[in-house]
Amino acid sequence: MEKFNPEEAILNTKREFGEHGGVSPSLSRSSTFTVKEPGIMPEIFEGIKGPDRGGCYLYSRHFNPTVSLLARYLAAMEDTESAKCTASGMSAIACTVLQICKSGDHIVSGNSIYGGTYALFKDLLPDYNIETTFVDTSDYNAFEKAIKPETKIIYVESLSNPTLQVPDIKRLAVLAKKNDIKLVVDNTFLPVVLSPARLGADVVVYSMTKFINGASDLIAGAICASKEFINELVDVHTGRVMLYGPTLDPRVAFDIIQRVPHLPLRMKEHGSRTLELTEMLNDMGVKVKFPGLKSHPDNKLLSSILNEGYGYGGVFTIDCETEEKANDLLSTLQNEEDFGYIAVSLGYFDTLISCSGSSTSSEMTPEEQKEIGLSPGLVRISTGLTGSIEMRKEQLKRAVTKVLL
Ligand SMILES: *Cc1c(COP(=O)(O)O)cnc(C)c1O
Repeated sequence: MEKFNPEEAILNTKREFGEHGGVSPSLSRSSTFTVKEPGIMPEIFEGIKGPDRGGCYLYSRHFNPTVSLLARYLAAMEDTESAKCTASGMSAIACTVLQICKSGDHIVSGNSIYGGTYALFKDLLPDYNIETTFVDTSDYNAFEKAIKPETKIIYVESLSNPTLQVPDIKRLAVLAKKNDIKLVVDNTFLPVVLSPARLGADVVVYSMTKFINGASDLIAGAICASKEFINELVDVHTGRVMLYGPTLDPRVAFDIIQRVPHLPLRMKEHGSRTLELTEMLNDMGVKVKFPGLKSHPDNKLLSSILNEGYGYGGVFTIDCETEEKANDLLSTLQNEEDFGYIAVSLGYFDTLISCSGSSTSSEMTPEEQKEIGLSPGLVRISTGLTGSIEMRKEQLKRAVTKVLL
């Protein structure tokens, strides 16, 4: 497959300068816009004449110049025709799924996914008569077997949370196409590193709250897909983003626009730091998991599909086996070593540490956690960019030696 350079794609996105020639774009906060010719109002309303089709802006739940600029960055980065920004990662996922599935439809999903998505599929969607079969993310045959005539979506995370498994996106894309199913991939853990749409995914969803924004100061999401699908989402009669209404606030979009240009740089640094830390832990005999390590079962697969030069992401796990040990490691890392903060979420410029079983995966029962191989002592670490790597290695080594060895 032809190589793809997301960094160049971001750079080649048409630059917008501020109103007075500012190096940053202007922030368009208007909720509504003046329509110069009253006669074209109906066509604008029906989306026939958008701002890019001889019309103009109308109302910011449809389109907003600032939010659309961010969407263009994302579409360029993902190499999709179009993109839509939403108010959160969850709204991006929920609107995508509800746009594709109607009552009676079925989803086949990887079983190791973000807790909120798991709850949406398992607990909420059955109320709308949409059922989900969960299968092992790494088991292609299980996906194939679970497909029914009613199946409309195959859903996976490109790097599953929190078990860090990599699904075979290319093969799943072929399987989906063959059965007239949409492959939806949550790429929140691997922006820039992986381009699922280029591997055949129909829709790529993001929580921009994490790496893409990188500052843990806002909540946002995105849906990257074909023009046709994005237009469906904003259709005035049936568009799920248009009618449930989780559009992104222009002020939030503006903040993210300022951070997308250095996302590739940040991913490289998250990646190289995480590799150094995990190689050290691996050598110490700690139960560490990171797809960049040769010992990771999916290292070869991910290496064969990623965009070269951006590493393997910034999230790794340490299995402490019991919740007590995990909590001991958490508090040692935060309160004695200043290595990072005990907090859920990821992709921040400082290190964030959490115990998955009792936090972001607590939507799963202990039995369900066991089934997907989630140890109650699993500590998830999102490597930050601050402090020298030598200092971070010393801090981590001391804490792990004290608690686990
Ligand atoms: C955080 C997260 C979400 C949810 O995103 P929000 O922005 O919090 O709504 C979805 N998927 C993954 C993989 C996440 O990490």
